[in-house]
Amino acid sequence: MKLVTAVETLARLRDESRRAGLRVGFVPTMGALHEGHGSLVKRARAECERVVASIFVNPLQFGPGEDFERYPRDLEGDRAKLEAWGCDVLFTTSPSALYRQGFQTYVVPDGPIVERYEGALRPGHFRGVATVVAKLLNLTGPTHAYFGRKDAQQAAVIRRMVDDLNVPVRVVVCPTARDSDGLALSSRNVYLSTEERAAAAGLPRALEASRARFREGERSAPALRAALENELRRIPDAALDYADLVDPDTFVPYAGELRDGARAAPPVLAVAAVRFRSTRLLDNLRLDEEGP
Ligand code: AMP
Repeated sequence: MKLVTAVETLARLRDESRRAGLRVGFVPTMGALHEGHGSLVKRARAECERVVASIFVNPLQFGPGEDFERYPRDLEGDRAKLEAWGCDVLFTTSPSALYRQGFQTYVVPDGPIVERYEGALRPGHFRGVATVVAKLLNLTGPTHAYFGRKDAQQAAVIRRMVDDLNVPVRVVVCPTARDSDGLALSSRNVYLSTEERAAAAGLPRALEASRARFREGERSAPALRAALENELRRIPDAALDYADLVDPDTFVPYAGELRDGARAAPPVLAVAAVRFRSTRLLDNLRLDEEGP
């Protein structure tokens, strides 16, 4: 695997791949890699001729008082994992190399998709995400870009950006990789104490219970939301940030009955975030689909 730290080198590789007409798969990450990232890299490996991953803890998407400084960093461990997953190129660089002096142009998602949930709780977060992803897509020039459904609002924002700005890339959103007790893998899980880690499994369990209710025929969005909130409030030492049922593409919440003309139900995504002290855990589950 080739390690690239200069943006100029990355751009040169992009131009080479383009000239050769290669299918290039790109997986942007913030490092502290786990099997969730692994599933994205392996999918890219299966579908593309060249696989590029980036590790960049993007200061622009962290708010004041968030965990930018203490975000887990393990470049050597990450390199070994990427190598084992079949990655061809790892790009990692410093904030000052990516945001050069005089930087003043941003991609700002500005609509209902960022008005609620992570967009509301973390002002400026999706502006940071959209800006860095746009920059990385321009620098790597991939044919395919891979994101996790674990961060479903982020995936929706990126799909929207790619569509709205006519970015020539196919966005692939991959299923959530989970631990054996159901907790979604996350670099931030290392912040949890043993007790919190055990309690955290209550988050996916509550989402599963919501899906079970939906399958049993419950179609009232307020009733499903109330039941989900109730389950989440029972998790020891966790504070509830939000729980809701949304359209997975627009992130607009459902208000009434989950019925959609001839179809039995529209696509319904249950989204939730809970907090153990300052550690926020996000998860989501499609109520109208099988699987992760
Ligand atoms: P991060 O390093 O947390 O910014 O994540 C990089 C990419 O990996 C994002 O597209 C995430 O949605 C994705 N990702 C993170 N955790 C998981 C997981 N448990 N399963 C699948 N994808 C994930």
